Amino acid sequence: MPLLDFKEIPEAHKGHGKQDTFELFARDFFEMLGYRILRGPGRGADGGCDLIIEETRSGIAGTTKVKWLVSCKHKAHSGQSVSKTDEAEVRDSVESNECHGFVGFYSTLPSSGLIDKVESIASISHQFFDSSKIEQVLLSTRNGRGLAQRYFPLSYERWLAENPTKAQIFSGTNGLRCANCGEDISEGRKGIVVSWEKFRDLEDGSRERHVKDFYWCCRGECDRHLKPRFSEPEYIDKWEDIHDLRIPTIYIRWVIGLLNHIYSDYQYSPQAFEAQKEMLLELFPYVSRNLTMKEVERISVLGAIPACLGGLDYGDA
Ligand SMILES: [Zn+2]
Repeated sequence: MPLLDFKEIPEAHKGHGKQDTFELFARDFFEMLGYRILRGPGRGADGGCDLIIEETRSGIAGTTKVKWLVSCKHKAHSGQSVSKTDEAEVRDSVESNECHGFVGFYSTLPSSGLIDKVESIASISHQFFDSSKIEQVLLSTRNGRGLAQRYFPLSYERWLAENPTKAQIFSGTNGLRCANCGEDISEGRKGIVVSWEKFRDLEDGSRERHVKDFYWCCRGECDRHLKPRFSEPEYIDKWEDIHDLRIPTIYIRWVIGLLNHIYSDYQYSPQAFEAQKEMLLELFPYVSRNLTMKEVERISVLGAIPACLGGLDYGDA
């Protein structure tokens, strides 16, 4: 199912002043991919040419420049594919503009007749970007998502609600590195946090609880490998999925649990306590939102970046 609705981009040739939007989108799209824009979108009859872009390829023998002619066709509103007759002059346009290749940039699909026709022109290279390929490129990188937000504000908002991304809050964090293999496991599903704890009933009826070690690692092999190193009589290991801790509700439950522990009879070793703080800081961007420009300014006034991010060493973790 398509995630971005290309109908959010106004239809071309309707004379309401926004007829260029799809071509402007194409320009920004190729600029984002690293192409240089040699000729941008212009109004009026284009003779089959909407954009000319340049790709720089570096190889052993130096760099070569490849010029592409981009034809933009925005047919999302009718839902029709782009046909052979829509692209009548592929070879002539490419050659008369001294380009090496042809790019079809479409908000629907190229028809099979058009694909056959372009493939049969042996003298030029070609690429097709249809709606699903464009969507895939946009949603897979941060710059792409910025572009999607600009040109597809409504469908991007819907997508984002179901696909939360890490907020840009701290710079220069280390991620959560597995205590055994060193891989960053803050994303994905294989990471766990492990806490070694002791519970003991004392003679006066109170309980002693001690958290000796706290670390994170990959579930399975790395976890098994680490166990003998931390195992001690009376201590048991408890664990939680990092994947779950990225859920805002579980995250705040953990924070409240930690506060309750501190207020009650729990004792944390310095390592276990510092590691808990590091984990909470590293996972915070997953449960929060981006800063507004006003907030960025305010923070620089307040000097409020948490002091223990990035620079400190937390022992084994
Ligand atoms: Zn590991």
